[in-house]
Amino acid sequence: MDADLELGKIADAVSACKKCELHFSRAKGVPGEGPPDADIMFIGEGPGFHENMQGRPFVGAAGDFLVELLAGIGLKREQVFITNVVKCRPPGNRDPNPEELQACAPYLDKQLQIINPKVIVTLGRFSMARFIPNAKISEIHGQPIRVKGMLVVPFYHPAAALHRPSLRSVVKEDFAALPDLIKNVGEAPAYKPEKPLEDDNHPEQLSLF
Ligand code: URA
Ligand code: SF4
Repeated sequence: MDADLELGKIADAVSACKKCELHFSRAKGVPGEGPPDADIMFIGEGPGFHENMQGRPFVGAAGDFLVELLAGIGLKREQVFITNVVKCRPPGNRDPNPEELQACAPYLDKQLQIINPKVIVTLGRFSMARFIPNAKISEIHGQPIRVKGMLVVPFYHPAAALHRPSLRSVVKEDFAALPDLIKNVGEAPAYKPEKPLEDDNHPEQLSLF
């Protein structure tokens, strides 16, 4: 099937999804957006207030900063795929809980499969933990790591930098290194977790369609 069409089906499935309790309070599901052949996929935490109203990812203050960071490396937001680990807004922007993360995981899995990006940039700890469990963002931010064949680079969440001005320059430096990283995708080391990665944090691989 055509990749655009497949991504559209995921978006439709998200809009109608009731697999976790976040559906009760959502205005709009936020499946994510960007070209189906994007080289880079940014994965945030979950929709906030504005995202929930518009059904689009990163359209609030954190989104403005993300756009600024992208512009700094010569990219427009339309050139990258942007999504989140949970597709519906946690009420009051609370952290997503493990049940919600697990229920929503198949949508992101499917998006990854369709887009097959050269580089996955995780924004914040929930997104990082999806690929690199038990890691500390302060220790590994900006470092490319190969996980199950995918190249993952964990970044701080732009919202964290908005709240902690000392992080702004760190985030800017991490972004500045991204173009070279993409050029040298083959050179990243494999991730060596202390415990083996569980192949299945969501064993039942829900069928979406
Ligand atoms: N923060 C996120 O993690 N995701 C969004 O879509 C917006 C803000
Ligand atoms: Fe479904 Fe994900 Fe929304 Fe939960 S957060 S209702 S699993 S789309």
